[in-house]
Amino acid sequence: MNLLLKQSLMTAAGIIALAIGTGGCSDKGTEKKAEPALNASNMDTIVKAGDDFYRFANGTWLKNNPIPAEYSRYGAFEVLEEGNYNQLKTILADASADKNAAAGSVNQKIRDFYNSGMDTIKIDKDGISPLKAELDQINAFETAADVQKMLILQHASGNYPLFYLYSAPDEKNSNMVIANTFQGGLGLPDRDYYLGEDARSKEIRASYLKHMAKMFVLAGSTPEQAAKDVDVVMKIETSLAKISSARVDLRDPVKNYNKTDLAGLQKMAPGIDWKAYFEGIKLTTTNEINIGQPKFITGMAAMINTIPVSDWKVYFRWDLINSAASALSSDFDKEHFAFYGTVLSGAKEQRPRWKRMIDQTSSSLGEAVGQLYVQKFFPPEAKKRMIELVSNLKVSLGERIAGLKWMSDATKKEAEAKLAKINVKIGYPDKWIDYSNLTIGTDSYYANLKNARQFEVNRNITKIGKPVDRSEWNMTPQTVNAYYSPNMNEIVFPAAILQPPFFFMDADDAVNYGAIGMVISHEMTHGFDDQGRQYDKEGNLHDWWLADDSKNFEAKTKVLVDQYDNYKILDSLHVDGKLTLGENIADLGGMNVAYNGLQKALAGKNKDEKIDGFTPDQRFFLSYAQVWRANTRDEETMRRLKEDVHSPAETRVNAIVYNIPAFYTAFNIKPGDKRYIAPENRADIW
Ligand SMILES: [Zn+2]
Repeated sequence: MNLLLKQSLMTAAGIIALAIGTGGCSDKGTEKKAEPALNASNMDTIVKAGDDFYRFANGTWLKNNPIPAEYSRYGAFEVLEEGNYNQLKTILADASADKNAAAGSVNQKIRDFYNSGMDTIKIDKDGISPLKAELDQINAFETAADVQKMLILQHASGNYPLFYLYSAPDEKNSNMVIANTFQGGLGLPDRDYYLGEDARSKEIRASYLKHMAKMFVLAGSTPEQAAKDVDVVMKIETSLAKISSARVDLRDPVKNYNKTDLAGLQKMAPGIDWKAYFEGIKLTTTNEINIGQPKFITGMAAMINTIPVSDWKVYFRWDLINSAASALSSDFDKEHFAFYGTVLSGAKEQRPRWKRMIDQTSSSLGEAVGQLYVQKFFPPEAKKRMIELVSNLKVSLGERIAGLKWMSDATKKEAEAKLAKINVKIGYPDKWIDYSNLTIGTDSYYANLKNARQFEVNRNITKIGKPVDRSEWNMTPQTVNAYYSPNMNEIVFPAAILQPPFFFMDADDAVNYGAIGMVISHEMTHGFDDQGRQYDKEGNLHDWWLADDSKNFEAKTKVLVDQYDNYKILDSLHVDGKLTLGENIADLGGMNVAYNGLQKALAGKNKDEKIDGFTPDQRFFLSYAQVWRANTRDEETMRRLKEDVHSPAETRVNAIVYNIPAFYTAFNIKPGDKRYIAPENRADIW
């Protein structure tokens, strides 16, 4: 699955990740030497802690680690991912050389998938021919009914022109899986790129047109024809952009919950024969569908019959080529990267192919690779240590809730019940996905990709209309990330994040509480952020708050929204306080809860005892700051400000710590320091 699709579906399914997936990666700059848990040589102590804590903690590292060509951002996450690539490489190298793997075994599938993707001689020779059958079908369109038929065929195979269809728990009956639609159909990552009149949006639109034209020519069009075709695509996508919801509205669970049945959907969006659609995608087991964005579905379905069939041919052709590009010959692959990697994110060079194939194998055969990964690299002691940390931090959040002055006892009781019910998953799933129905061969990389996609679609469709399987994971164990799921009311920590600089087996408590402790607390706080608080302890979208408490909460979060709205990045741009609110609440709450947890862990110990010259409190804040150290290209910063619900790395540090009283004491911050915030103006929620 490509990154955009993956992120769209994760957002759609309400999965709230710790950080957005990283873009490019490199085999340069790997930190191999064992570093101390807290590396003081990364700091820049010429900067005052009260002026810019992010640079005080990371300044020297930032100066000494320019972004490698393949990256759009390079920081602690990417350094850890580098190490991860090297671990996965040993697994894939073993698998790819295993001549004796039994036919149909997981090892055979991993081997053949990876090797077929590495066989660039064959892939280059094949050119665009893997798409021939589908392109011929598109070419044969004569009526709007043909367009719809193709839409169904594509969706049935796991490619999603125009909109997404996916399975997820019913937001108001979280034990049952239902079908959901989500807006889509755009080649650019956000609707604002089509509608914005700012210079960056205009520049991206112009580059997108050029890129499309090049791709059409590679696919066999004349330059004259390509020049006409790009306007057709742009017109259709712009129409879709106009009926799409803004990202801020996609974060509102109430707005995006519009459950209906087949008859209701047919009335809402008569442009499509929905009975035929669901039969075509082999979904006849359910009559409950949540329409994420009704305005979009209505408008999109109407377009099927009002836009000329000749234009749809062009659009579907583009969708197919664009979604397959990185799996085709190197001319397509390179041009695809030139736009999505370089223009949108600023990466100068494409990652080496072996890494991209690790990513793809890791995505298509996620839990098969994951199983080998945890066997080889995940120490059981790490899980034990994590269980301890999580239970300490649950107590801490409970204490914080009990002590809140702005919340009534009745709502507190509900909040505490929700906290007590949070389920915790650490490392890897108890039950692995069974890949025996997935066929992977040596013939064609594209065919392997399609088979893997089909396998995933079948798995998803089968879930609909059945009870939720609570043992499932939404991230693979080899993913450097973590998430909270509001419908499951659970926090999940894949094995790969349980490594430095997030998790240290042997470091002092202060460092671990500032990093993984904060990550754990951050994920728990998501259950109580502006989005998560709208779900009850069973994971149902249901208001359990007294009206006054909601009012107080909103007033409290407004302080945070305003602070972030005023946070300038790249001179004149600023963070979107509303778009990033959930993450910012989780960062602030996460730090308060983790700090409270640390104080408990230090009880009875000498709180002034220094390690490498720093007290435990100082190490706690420094550890937090070092997790977010990152250099980011301007293009990537601009992209993330628009698309990412997480604030930029620098902001995750500087917009948080100056709200926390203990930070002032730890570093002796005084009025007059640049980022000093008077106590009455500080944000404080959880
Ligand atoms: Zn988060």
